[in-house]
Amino acid sequence: MAKKSAIRIALDLETTGLHAEQDAILEVAAIKFQGSEVLDTFETFISPGRSIPYRVQRLTGIKPELLVGAPPFDAISRQLHTFLGDYPIVGHSIPFDVGFLRRWGLAHSNPMVDTFELATVLLPSLSSYNLGQVAHSLGIQVPSDRHRAMVDTVLAMQVFLSLYERLQTVDLALLQDLARLDAPRSWPLLHFFRHELRLRQEHDGTSNLSRGILGDRFAAQLGMDPRVLSFAIARKDDAPPPVPTALPVATTAHIQKAEVPAEASFGTSVAHEAVYEAFEQRKPLVVEVTIGDNDYTPVLLSTLRWLNESEGESATPRRLVIACSNQQGARRLVSKTLPMLQSRLESQLSVAYLAERGGYLCTHRWFGAALRRTSGELTAEQARGLAKLGLWAQQTLTGERGELTLLPQESAAWERISSGVERLPSADPRAGSIYQRCTYRRKGLCFVSLAEERVKNARIVVTTHAGLFDDLSSSHSLLSGIEQRVILDSDLLDEENARWSGAEFRQEHLLNLLNTIGAELPTGRYQGLLALAAPSLRGNGPGGISSTPTVAKAELDQRMLSWFQTLRQARAAVEQLFKSFQALIEDAAHQGNGKGEGAGRSAGSRGHERLDQPLRLTSQSCQVGAWNEVEQAWKQAAHRLQSVIDLARQAEKIILAPQKNAHKEKGSGEDSSLASELAAAAHQLLEQKRLAEQALSLEESESVYWLRMPPTPVSHAGHQRPGQGPQTLSEPAPPILHTQLVQTSALLRRLLLREQRGTIFAGTALSVDGSFAFTQGRLGLESEQGLTLSIERPHHEQTLLYLMDDVPEPNVPQYQRHLDETIMQMASALEGQTVVLFTSHAALRSSYTAIKPMLEARGILVLGQGIDGSPRNLWQIYREQEHVVLLGTGSFWDAGDDVTISPTCLIVSRLPMPVLHDPPIAARAELISDQLHNLTVPMAALRVRRALNKIAWHNDKRNAVIMFDKRVVSKEYGAMVLQSLPRCSQRRGGASRAAESVLDWLTDTGSWE
Ligand code: SF4
Repeated sequence: MAKKSAIRIALDLETTGLHAEQDAILEVAAIKFQGSEVLDTFETFISPGRSIPYRVQRLTGIKPELLVGAPPFDAISRQLHTFLGDYPIVGHSIPFDVGFLRRWGLAHSNPMVDTFELATVLLPSLSSYNLGQVAHSLGIQVPSDRHRAMVDTVLAMQVFLSLYERLQTVDLALLQDLARLDAPRSWPLLHFFRHELRLRQEHDGTSNLSRGILGDRFAAQLGMDPRVLSFAIARKDDAPPPVPTALPVATTAHIQKAEVPAEASFGTSVAHEAVYEAFEQRKPLVVEVTIGDNDYTPVLLSTLRWLNESEGESATPRRLVIACSNQQGARRLVSKTLPMLQSRLESQLSVAYLAERGGYLCTHRWFGAALRRTSGELTAEQARGLAKLGLWAQQTLTGERGELTLLPQESAAWERISSGVERLPSADPRAGSIYQRCTYRRKGLCFVSLAEERVKNARIVVTTHAGLFDDLSSSHSLLSGIEQRVILDSDLLDEENARWSGAEFRQEHLLNLLNTIGAELPTGRYQGLLALAAPSLRGNGPGGISSTPTVAKAELDQRMLSWFQTLRQARAAVEQLFKSFQALIEDAAHQGNGKGEGAGRSAGSRGHERLDQPLRLTSQSCQVGAWNEVEQAWKQAAHRLQSVIDLARQAEKIILAPQKNAHKEKGSGEDSSLASELAAAAHQLLEQKRLAEQALSLEESESVYWLRMPPTPVSHAGHQRPGQGPQTLSEPAPPILHTQLVQTSALLRRLLLREQRGTIFAGTALSVDGSFAFTQGRLGLESEQGLTLSIERPHHEQTLLYLMDDVPEPNVPQYQRHLDETIMQMASALEGQTVVLFTSHAALRSSYTAIKPMLEARGILVLGQGIDGSPRNLWQIYREQEHVVLLGTGSFWDAGDDVTISPTCLIVSRLPMPVLHDPPIAARAELISDQLHNLTVPMAALRVRRALNKIAWHNDKRNAVIMFDKRVVSKEYGAMVLQSLPRCSQRRGGASRAAESVLDWLTDTGSWE
């Protein structure tokens, strides 16, 4: 008998803002439905009793005139209450809407089903989870006026029904895992999964699924969990459908016949000769390709030609590594760019992708301790992350993290199951590494070893900068033997290298590691890896692992009790250490030592100031009053941490030792997984201890160390709605100890240039004032060592560069006021269509506040990064709406993949010179004479060039770039910046003529240089 669908309510509200406590409801729409049948609807405008912010009017289309005669909320409250009953309420980010209703005393006991959460779990690879995108990916038509309440309610209902249908295809064992996740009871999806499990069991007439006798026999014989048989990787010979975004790997079957745009040939003939020379003579080539967007076609086309020419000539075919700065770029290269270029050349070179260390799902960990409680209840986000991973793990054929969209709060879930520790030697050398003894690998169910096989067989291997560094620094390198390399985005290579070689020492991370190993709970029970492994670790125990996540004291012997005591002492020592760091920062601020080297600064008095400036650790730091406190605390912490490392290794050895009973030799692999987890935790603790040891020795080294208070965390309710500011401030966390290499060039040289290879460093901004010397120095190249080439498209017919010559310089009074006036003039003249780049959030906020009222009165929407959404949200609104001005800073300059349309006017408010009190920059600057010309101006010039290439020249639309920073014309170094840009038409003039000049340019009137 078919099961009868439950009655549910789909709901959406439009509101004046994000905060239920202070904002008002403007519109309510709800649909009562059962299956796909609509039973009833409810829809009304609400009089908010206050004005409607312009941004909300623009995004919802609800203008004050629409609300004339609308009832206040309390007039419809009873009717809505009756409509809702106690049915589950469905909607996109529904806790937000229900939060408003609860303020009015409604919907207190209705269960919630959040389609945002459900979509992140069931559609793990979407690039964005806004309602429109989710609906689109499910094949649901998205209406154009979809921000109104009823339209969104219908869409949410359709999305729910489609997702619900998908959920029915999830197998019972996985549904049971989802329903049993160790998540907070308040997590709505937990109730939903439990409810679904009950229904499924009632319908199928099944009760709880346990592994069963057959499963246990399988586990005992093979040392694997039988649930692995439901993974696509175990059924790949049955040709299961791959997840939609899986990368094509080591195959040529995917090559599409696609037209390459005619302009893709630009610069190819120039690149051809240089690429051939670099490869034939095994020389480095630095090639700058500034032809708009992140287009490297000239280099890639020449490279593919060179590879193809060797076909059939030699027994060992030529191979190539291509590295991009990030995963998205690498995936685009594999799935789009290379197939398109290969199609053009009629070539069929096999391509494989190699992820970074930790970039694959580890099957062994997944079936080991991943879903078990080791360090306390999961947060809702971690639970959501694990639920998402559970579904994806069954479908993926590559196990690459890049297939997934993991929201920041979900990343902790990935860390529980990722590869990356498999090569660690065991505490007992006879046991070999995890990789060597792993049954999943031996049975062909390890994503890492499958990826390694694909890489060994591919002619072209694509990876990221970090993936390349990981591989080349490993003793099991797969790429070091490949003689040709193309490193794309080389302008970001040293930044990526600094990030890759940098590290953090955080209290939260350390405590988490200690808790994962083991902790005594306030209830007197014990949890963590030691507790799970208690049956194996007891001197006289039967072996195996505990069936419960926590164990009683009676289940531990004296040695284990002493281990838990050591862990408790280590936690206390770590907390004391971080308190001493805080005292050091406060003391340094108090002593006012922040103006010079070796100290931080504060904005107020001790105990009350925002201690947000970094405190660099140098030989001078020991003169700060609280240094003795730090020394004492570190002595204790180092000793305690070492004791924990030793006990974890001892426990690992005991678990791996040949057993007195047969269980461990033939077991399910769970106990071996616990040993691996202990090895991984001990390894991480050791790395952390070494970092702090080096930092607190205050000795000179290749690295710079500094303490900094973390930014105050912001808690988001589920996710942020586009165009609406988030944000609740939480308690400040303790300081973080950071480290980074001062000069990455030596490491880059060691990794990339140790052997003679044909290496091409390609980037969009590599030359300063016509010279590559600055970039060569950063890459560790001698200037006479290699070849250089610049391929740039002239933009004198597309772009007017307007140079302000009568405005105050930055840091001079009135600068900000003049900037705001210029933005308002340009935005008014162009009716929006303007993007402004700032160099700080403070400046952005100041302009935002100043220009918004006047521009909104003229029908122009002003959106600020971090105020109204992320860069991606903002660019999306810019694309969808007319009359918009965007204000961005930080990552906005680099734009990523977010820009889909170039603005008509781009204003560069100020040259993006690096901040000299930032410790890595300060340490680097100390090694350089004439910092201005040899560091800060070149860095600013390259950043402007990169931003223009990405934002202004994303497409061929005629546009204008306003350089508002007068220093480009008033200072001698300004010429260095201007001469570092591709050719544009130029006009120099006053602020009052800027709008007129830009309009003339856009309408092609007037004469231009
Ligand atoms: S070999 Fe390593 S990465 Fe692969 S499944 Fe086993 S433990 Fe995981």
